[in-house]
Amino acid sequence: MTIAGEIGTLARAALVVEAGTPCESLESTFRARSDLMAVIVADGDRLGLIMRGRFDQAMSGPMGYGRLLWRQRPVSAIADWSPVRLPGATTVVAASHLLRTRPAERRYDDLVVDLDGGRVGTVSAAHLFDALATQFADRAVRDDLTGLANRAHFLDVLTAACTDAGADGDRVAVAFLDIDGMKRINDSHGHQAGDAVLTLVGRQLCDAMRPGEIAARLGGDEFAVLARVRRGAPAEEAALELGRRCLLAISARDGRHDPDLHPYASVGVAVSGNRSDPQTLVSEADMAMYRAKQAGGNQVELAVGVEAGLAGDVDLVDRTVAQAVEQGELRLHYQPIVRVNDRSVASVEALVRWQHPTMGLLPPGRFLPGARRAGHLPALDRWVLRRACADLVAMDEELGEQSPKWVNVNLSAPTLAGPFDETVVRTLADTGLPASRLRLELPEDADLQTLADAGPRLERLISLGVWLTLDDMGAGSTNLRYLSTLSIHGIKIDRAFVSGMLHNPRDHAVVKLLTDLAHGLGLRVTAEGVESAAQLSELARLGVVHAQGYHLAHPMPLNALTTLLAGETKARPHTARTAR
Ligand code: C2E
Ligand code: MG
Ligand code: MG
Repeated sequence: MTIAGEIGTLARAALVVEAGTPCESLESTFRARSDLMAVIVADGDRLGLIMRGRFDQAMSGPMGYGRLLWRQRPVSAIADWSPVRLPGATTVVAASHLLRTRPAERRYDDLVVDLDGGRVGTVSAAHLFDALATQFADRAVRDDLTGLANRAHFLDVLTAACTDAGADGDRVAVAFLDIDGMKRINDSHGHQAGDAVLTLVGRQLCDAMRPGEIAARLGGDEFAVLARVRRGAPAEEAALELGRRCLLAISARDGRHDPDLHPYASVGVAVSGNRSDPQTLVSEADMAMYRAKQAGGNQVELAVGVEAGLAGDVDLVDRTVAQAVEQGELRLHYQPIVRVNDRSVASVEALVRWQHPTMGLLPPGRFLPGARRAGHLPALDRWVLRRACADLVAMDEELGEQSPKWVNVNLSAPTLAGPFDETVVRTLADTGLPASRLRLELPEDADLQTLADAGPRLERLISLGVWLTLDDMGAGSTNLRYLSTLSIHGIKIDRAFVSGMLHNPRDHAVVKLLTDLAHGLGLRVTAEGVESAAQLSELARLGVVHAQGYHLAHPMPLNALTTLLAGETKARPHTARTAR
């Protein structure tokens, strides 16, 4: 609750009269001061309250004898000696609640408020309820923590701005910000420190705004800013300038704050096109923000459609992965996983691509983050699984013995949180692929809880003959403990270690450690991202049995894979399924 929500700020200085003051003297005071609606009566420390309306009533009635009755009597006889009396720091919400629980005839009396320095004041019920209404109206549009506009209000204002700007030929620029390292701050310094960082960011953004611009907190550590770009002005430049200004505001240091708690941000910017709706504009800026984050954070990226500089190009990204699934725009490429000793193809990994109608073939890095945020990953994974199983069955028919023995399919963390075992069982039954030919790759970004919760479903699949592999080992949070709690069959060493292993002793040590560990546990090891013969031979020396990487084969469409496998078979009948 902010200071503005305290009743002390609503109080008016009160007129205090002594308890012994005769009523007729108070009557002349009221007559002289028409603005005075209540007075406080003091009897030592005790405070009473006289409301003007009730006083007037006493003095005039009953039957006109009131004055006669009360004139000489002290005001103490007419005062209410148990008014609602509260400290100035009481919130408007709490004070209103107290008033509302009073008996009906006293419900609209003033509150007596103790202010700083021993002063007392009063707050009228009308004023208090007004403040309460304003506060609730404000809350509906404001974010509690930062005081910035909230998501709903931001979208409202953005909708109005887009309509208005469209009519004038202006455009609207949106900057989408996500704080870098917020999870680390929360984890290592606690949520209070995290909240303080978000509040600071809110203030910094607010200070950086120009007239007409609006900053909002969309939720969590996401912020957005909108600005209008005048007709004829270079819109992309203006959007980038807006993004850079936000970035600068957030990364400004003033020495007062703990440097460890000082945030940076990833910023994506987008500008409205001819037919763009506000939601699209925000998701474009969001996607651009993801690219900024993937590129290391603390930078600004312009939305893809805008970059191309085409009129109305924002429509290009106005599609979701769910629509891509429905429209049949997803494709699978397959990358061979090869035995290091003879280079024969043991398995193929299914890697998804999006054949976008206007943007061409998009790699997963371009659309998986957005799909994850939109909650579309389970649908995507289901599609990939079905396609991959069906493709392997089709390859069997075409290649017979030379078909790959297994297909590796990636599962995302959101999929693991659902009933994926049912999906797998049904897909295997529908496509006719035996369970023993499917290998599921578990993502390194799944947290331990997700993996633990998925345990029984994974065990069910294992019992049916499906193999499990931990993907990108060493890269993320995949916990070694998990290796011993579930009957995993293999691990894939992340390509970051493979690519560094020849010149960085630490990377080399990690590759060796993971290989030894896996062998100790009886697991299959696959090294990912092998890009050179030197890497391959070092991996062979360390005892790595399987490898995958551009040096061996790039991911390729199904027909290219089939051709490769068929061709290699003819050329080298004894080392079937060779990639190179
Ligand atoms: P991943 O599962 O670790 O897949 C391996 C990635 O490394 C692929 O990137 C592959 O093209 C790339 N790669 C293979 N060899 C080399 C190499 O020698 N050098 C380099 N630099 N890269 C190499 P891709 O296809 O872009 O996929 C990226 C990630 O997206 C995948 O990493 C996986 O996490 C995710 N992904 C891809 N397809 C799917 C899918 O169907 N479902 C789910 N849930 N995730 C997927
Ligand atoms: Mg994988
Ligand atoms: Mg991997």
